[in-house]
Amino acid sequence: MIRQYTDSAMCLQCKGCCYFHSPAWAPRLLAPEKQQIGMEQMSGALIEDSGRLRCPFLQAASHRCRIYPARPLECALYPFLLSRRNDTLDLLAHRACAVVAETYDTAEFSLYAEYLETVLREPEILSVLQREYHLFVPYDDAELIAVRRDIFGAEQGARADGSISGRNE
Ligand code: SF4
Repeated sequence: MIRQYTDSAMCLQCKGCCYFHSPAWAPRLLAPEKQQIGMEQMSGALIEDSGRLRCPFLQAASHRCRIYPARPLECALYPFLLSRRNDTLDLLAHRACAVVAETYDTAEFSLYAEYLETVLREPEILSVLQREYHLFVPYDDAELIAVRRDIFGAEQGARADGSISGRNE
């Protein structure tokens, strides 16, 4: 389980997460998560709620996740995101999250980014990300800041020839 960057109590107070302005921002379900949650993709199951789209697993009144211990990887990562770019994945952080906005230039943030990078490069996680690379969104948002470029490439070492040897085709 990924150690969360933000404090849960703060998240429950903020109530900014788990609502989306478009289906493109809904967490993607990787193959093992589809099986575990029993759903093809969340983007097709979002619920209209006061002009926004709510995750079907969010209990609106308490703002608690009904599947929190088994929530998808992308939920556990947030306010960090994986973004598809040039056949690989970048790790980004979302400044729309108040905690990121306040801490992204601190040592605490850098340490957590190092931790996350290590977790994402664990062989078991990396192989799933490589296999399901196509699911990820090429985000383009002024509120996103790059944290680590090319998760696959860094794991495989520098690519002198510019190939995409870090990804299983
Ligand atoms: S699965 Fe849980 S954590 Fe993820 S978006 Fe839905 S309510 Fe939020």
